[in-house]
Amino acid sequence: MALKGLDIFKLSPKKNCKECGSPTCMAFSMKVAQGAVSIDACPYFSEEAKAAMSEATAPPMKTVKVGAGENEYALGGETVLFRHEKTYVSKTRYAVALCSCMDDAVVEEKLAAIPKVDYDRIGERMFVEMVYVNYAPESGADKYVELVKKAAGLNRVLILGVEDPEVAKAALAVCKDSKPVLNGATPANYEAMNAVAVENGVALGVMGANDDELFDTVAALEKLGNKNLLINANTASIKAAYATAVRFRRAAIKDNNRTCGYPSIVNVAKLAMGDAHMQAALASVFTMKYGSIVVMENIGYAEALPLYGMRQNVFTDPQKPMKVEPGIYQINGADENSICLTTVDFALTYFVVSGELERSGVPCNLIINDAGGLSVLTSWAAGKFSSSSIAKYFQEADIEGKIKCRKLCIPGKVAVLKGELEAKMPGWEIIVAPREAVQLVKFLKDMQ
Ligand code: SF4
Repeated sequence: MALKGLDIFKLSPKKNCKECGSPTCMAFSMKVAQGAVSIDACPYFSEEAKAAMSEATAPPMKTVKVGAGENEYALGGETVLFRHEKTYVSKTRYAVALCSCMDDAVVEEKLAAIPKVDYDRIGERMFVEMVYVNYAPESGADKYVELVKKAAGLNRVLILGVEDPEVAKAALAVCKDSKPVLNGATPANYEAMNAVAVENGVALGVMGANDDELFDTVAALEKLGNKNLLINANTASIKAAYATAVRFRRAAIKDNNRTCGYPSIVNVAKLAMGDAHMQAALASVFTMKYGSIVVMENIGYAEALPLYGMRQNVFTDPQKPMKVEPGIYQINGADENSICLTTVDFALTYFVVSGELERSGVPCNLIINDAGGLSVLTSWAAGKFSSSSIAKYFQEADIEGKIKCRKLCIPGKVAVLKGELEAKMPGWEIIVAPREAVQLVKFLKDMQ
């Protein structure tokens, strides 16, 4: 929450020495509150005052980083309750659950299934980013550590579901460099678990039998100086899990309650054990309300395709057009003699068109210029996909120097550009392609 001028003035040195360029400390404080000058322009603000201000101006929800290297993910850091208010910043990550209570054959089957979901959708890689490894005390610590080792081999972020500090230490000894989440601080063990998490530099997941207990344990961990925390939604029932997720997020964003401002783990595998359909439905609910990590029993393509597509829609910034880079995209082993097609740089259009071109099996060069990230008709209406812009891009990108073929297909929806393009691009044969991408396969095959 932004600080007001008077709040800053209370912390100011009150010397009125004018060294900052303002006539008084009050005037300076007002300018800082407006963002017109930096607090560093005054050499006399104490470090304590600066620290207090940075705490007060910090976002209501903390950003917690888990994983390492290319598998590092930021969780939390949200500033709004609803996506239409601004945008969500850290997308929900999905985990598949393993348990040391499972038979070896089941574990092997799950480990083999996890990498199978891996595909691109509108430029984003969709795959299972995390693996939840639960410790069942009756299986023994050795079996658990072996399971953690096996899961680590998948190169995904691990979430160690373990409440025994000694077992946690043994498990972290084999995977701490990959920065897993240690998920198992409870009111009974939080001091010991905190020591293990801090020593290994990993985020700590906090649990409670109810929301009050959860809040108190988070507050106690904060007092110990640990703010690298995640909160677990109550798994007593679906209603209780939903209540935790919504209450904590609402308290963080609306009431500025920093103790509630942590990313969350929602274990839908526990909430609907054995019911894949219910888990898929719950995963959708908690992607919107407000799971930072959602744990499921299994994620195959049947679960992933709708779920990941929905996540992409929810976590895309509506203020930024989804675009692909301008350039020549060579499809099906195209070369300089292959036919050319052009369309707009709107990511959805690009992926639909390129998918159909791939399906045709015909080598072709898809030439994309900057059309503002809009669809074909919208960019044409806005003057961003016109004969002038296409001809200009062909000149600037030296398309004629790179490609010998002089046949260019334009989208059927802008057939009106054909005459203008022929006038502006002499030597090119302009061909009007179908209006719908799905018709491109037959169109290209017929042309061949
Ligand atoms: S330099 Fe600092 S102490 Fe001096 S007038 Fe400005 S704000 Fe006040």
